[in-house]
Amino acid sequence: MTVTSEAVIIGGGVMGASILYSLAAGGVRSPVLLERDTLGSGSTGRSSGAIRMHYSTEVNARLAWESLAVFRNWGDAVGGDGDPGFVETGYMVFAPQHEAAGFFQNIEMQRRVGIDTRIVDWVEARELAPAFHLGEDERFAWEAQSGHGDPSGTALAFVSRARELGASVSLESPATRVAIRGGRVAGVETANETYETDTAVVATGPWSSRFLRGLGVELPLMPTRHEVILIRRSETGVGYHPGGGDMANLIYFRPEADNLTLVGNGNREEEADPDTYNQRASTDFVQDVWGRLARRIPGIEDGRLAHGYAGLYTTTPDLHPVMDRVDGIEGLYVCTGFSGHGFKLAPAVGVCMAELILDGEAKLVDISPLRMGRFSDGSLNTTQYSFKVIA
Ligand SMILES: Cc1cc2nc3c(=O)[nH]c(=O)nc-3n(C[C@H](O)[C@H](O)[C@H](O)COP(=O)(O)OP(=O)(O)OC[C@H]3O[C@@H](n4cnc5c(N)ncnc54)[C@H](O)[C@@H]3O)c2cc1C
Repeated sequence: MTVTSEAVIIGGGVMGASILYSLAAGGVRSPVLLERDTLGSGSTGRSSGAIRMHYSTEVNARLAWESLAVFRNWGDAVGGDGDPGFVETGYMVFAPQHEAAGFFQNIEMQRRVGIDTRIVDWVEARELAPAFHLGEDERFAWEAQSGHGDPSGTALAFVSRARELGASVSLESPATRVAIRGGRVAGVETANETYETDTAVVATGPWSSRFLRGLGVELPLMPTRHEVILIRRSETGVGYHPGGGDMANLIYFRPEADNLTLVGNGNREEEADPDTYNQRASTDFVQDVWGRLARRIPGIEDGRLAHGYAGLYTTTPDLHPVMDRVDGIEGLYVCTGFSGHGFKLAPAVGVCMAELILDGEAKLVDISPLRMGRFSDGSLNTTQYSFKVIA
């Protein structure tokens, strides 16, 4: 069957869902989302959902801050019956003394952007989070409004609202081909349908390098495997605690429900095949990351392992995403490479991609640092002090 659509988005993770919503809200009639499997079945469904603002580059900080406003005011900003599951927990960033200069620089930049973050001293950090062990020579920042959300729930909430605005979604429908005629997008094909369109957005997460290669587009995108565990705190004496990004122990963590702590890490990763990778957490990881968490939250070593799993980041050489139009193929756009920190950016990413498509340029945030060409022209997003706890 042949269907005509003003825009086709390929990939039903949180990015595809957010773009679909923003296009529908921006007046695009009947945009279509194609998903290979089910909504959120890629990185999104395995995301830790942390929503924090600490970044070392302005572009990421702005995307995070604009997105936080949406997570916190979903009803007004997006509407519909969906719920991104935002929980405000507060978020503490820990930096060792030898990283202090770059850490302060980051906070300064974030405050210039307008982010609600501030340096706190040892005494105040202790009051804010009595569960944490705090080193005498460490530095701390506090983001009062940060927390976490539900990544799959957010994707579903975007899609539900987009459908109310006229969008449609086709699940279990992998895009097999983007038809390009005369240097322009002419359509997108699945096994059973042909979508006639002049606009296609590739938001295929860890499958992106493979999919783009099929279109003759080469990008340095690598799927990497990352593990997460959840520890039950009952009977440990460790109470509720805020979220945290811990540069000393290279972990991030957050509370989940009443008595669980979720923890992941920033320094263990391996390249993986998105179709065949091992989705379970390894014993070695459990021991390593739990030990590191216990250095920050003493007593948690007596908890019980509740769950563990692995998911995929889509990494780029500078750990920044790619949001751009593809030079030489009119109507083709790319939105991928969000590494371990895309969920929290998704609302603003959708707006910026819709602006790029509809107005020729993103206005909410200047996304020019995220252009494709940076990998070949050497203008990578590298900063003196990048935040390596990537979630
Ligand atoms: C373990 C883990 C922890 C994380 N923790 C955090 C965190 O705490 N905070 C945070 O902000 N971010 C976090 N992230 C990162 C975040 O989850 C991702 O950046 C984000 O989900 C990426 O969304 P996406 O839509 O680009 O990709 P995906 O969610 O992977 O979506 C891509 C979709 O495309 C589909 N697809 C692929 N090929 C095709 C095709 N040919 N046709 C149709 N569909 C196709 C896939 O099935 C998939 O559903 C984490 C990620 C992982 C794995």
